[in-house]
Amino acid sequence: VVGFGFAGAAAALTAHEHGASVLIVEKMPEPTAGGDSRVSGNVWFNPTSVQLASVYLRSLCGDYPIPDAIVAAWSRETARNTEWIESFGAKTGLRAARPEFPELLGHECDDGPHYIEPGWGMSRLYELLKAAVMQRGIEVLYSTPALELLQDDCAVVGVRASSREAPLLIEAERGVVLASGGFANNQDMVREFLHLPSGHPSGTPAATGDGIKMAQKAGADIWHMGNFMGRLGLKAPEFASGFDVKFAAGGWILVRNDGKRFVNETQPSRHGKALIGGQLEPHPAVAMHAIFDEKTRLAGPLSDSVASSPYGWTRLVERYEWSSDNRVEIEKGWILKANTLRELAENLALEPDALAQTVQTYNANCERGTDYQFGRDPTTLVPVSQPPFYGFTWGPLIVYTCGGPRKDEFARVLDPFGRPIAGLYCAGEISSTYSFCMSGGQMIGDALAFGRIAGRSASSMRRRLAHSRAGAADQTA
Ligand SMILES: Cc1cc2nc3c(=O)[nH]c(=O)nc-3n(C[C@H](O)[C@H](O)[C@H](O)COP(=O)(O)OP(=O)(O)OC[C@H]3O[C@@H](n4cnc5c(N)ncnc54)[C@H](O)[C@@H]3O)c2cc1C
Repeated sequence: VVGFGFAGAAAALTAHEHGASVLIVEKMPEPTAGGDSRVSGNVWFNPTSVQLASVYLRSLCGDYPIPDAIVAAWSRETARNTEWIESFGAKTGLRAARPEFPELLGHECDDGPHYIEPGWGMSRLYELLKAAVMQRGIEVLYSTPALELLQDDCAVVGVRASSREAPLLIEAERGVVLASGGFANNQDMVREFLHLPSGHPSGTPAATGDGIKMAQKAGADIWHMGNFMGRLGLKAPEFASGFDVKFAAGGWILVRNDGKRFVNETQPSRHGKALIGGQLEPHPAVAMHAIFDEKTRLAGPLSDSVASSPYGWTRLVERYEWSSDNRVEIEKGWILKANTLRELAENLALEPDALAQTVQTYNANCERGTDYQFGRDPTTLVPVSQPPFYGFTWGPLIVYTCGGPRKDEFARVLDPFGRPIAGLYCAGEISSTYSFCMSGGQMIGDALAFGRIAGRSASSMRRRLAHSRAGAADQTA
């Protein structure tokens, strides 16, 4: 199993339960392993009805349908998530919440985010599954990046890895499960597939798309590579992952490179999609600049503390505590400060006249109590008027990516002609099921569900013939 996040843990535990001998190789050292899973909100989706879940997933995919067999497998298996987690002794809870996409058919199956008591975040689910892996004696090799799949006449028979810089060849008798996460921290892939000039993760910096490339080299097709969740955030040079940002008061706007507003800034983003122009669209999904004033700076920290938001790489792993009045982050130069809007525009490489005009128009809308341009919520119409002024440019932050090797309902990796590549399976963010929308808890719900499917599929594979093993051994030699 390549990667020790939720998908890898679910695959390993299930394969072990089905009698396979399992080895996990994990790129990062133990203190920073666990991928996005470790720093996620640790809440998952468990539909109340398998039938409605199928309807909901088809609605979420919208104009980008996925095969019925995958929809059926996802619905069946995500409905087992809570029961499976509780089988490791956890007490789970449910925060009843309005479904995120109430306008979509089938939404009634989503009863809200499920979590481990006493609450969300704090790596609780990750720690539970990690302990279960340890208790079963499943071996985990940390600081061991997988580099390449070993193939014998197309079939995958093992992995070439590197352990403490020494080469390591691992033969896999039944199969290899790729569970190495997404590509939010691979700038080439971000440019190529997400069409963003740059983008930075809010989760693990280990999300460099390694498994996707390995699968491609082994002959895999790829699917929904352009789908991802972005969010408002700030990338500081000192850290590999970014900070998510939210404003405690209304005196802020977003502009693009022309210095003009382009969106209702307070439009709720539903895990990377928002209702724009009457239809759901990726948002935030372009580079932009945030502009705010002194009273907004003093209204509260731009990034939450771990107590109020117990997730995210910078909070849980780097343990950075944002200053309550944002002063420290301004001194560090993460946020630019200027006495006038024109000066701020110059610092952000924007056209000064355009930014001044944008703020003037926005402030006039605030006075009238109506955003005539983008229909922003009137309660948030607070002018950007009190100097000094502040701003920063952001990428956006990429919470997670959704695309990778194409899979089938058995979590088998498929080639471009729809044929399974023997011995190769995938689960989780490396090949999420989501082609367009997804709601809270569904990424983890999917990683657990397809992790278990991959573990079952790989363990049920008959041992390879002796000559296959000999082939792998030749490569080893
Ligand atoms: C801040 C944040 C909050 C989130 N909150 C939620 C939430 O509450 N609910 C939800 O449903 N979704 C949430 N998500 C998304 C969700 O956490 C992930 O999509 C999911 O956990 C991915 O699991 P995974 O096992 O596929 O990948 P990961 O958890 O990323 O694990 C992949 C592992 O593979 C390792 N790896 C990478 N390359 C290699 C290699 N070459 N060799 C060996 N190992 C390798 C990595 O180090 C990592 O440990 C959140 C994401 C983030 C970033």
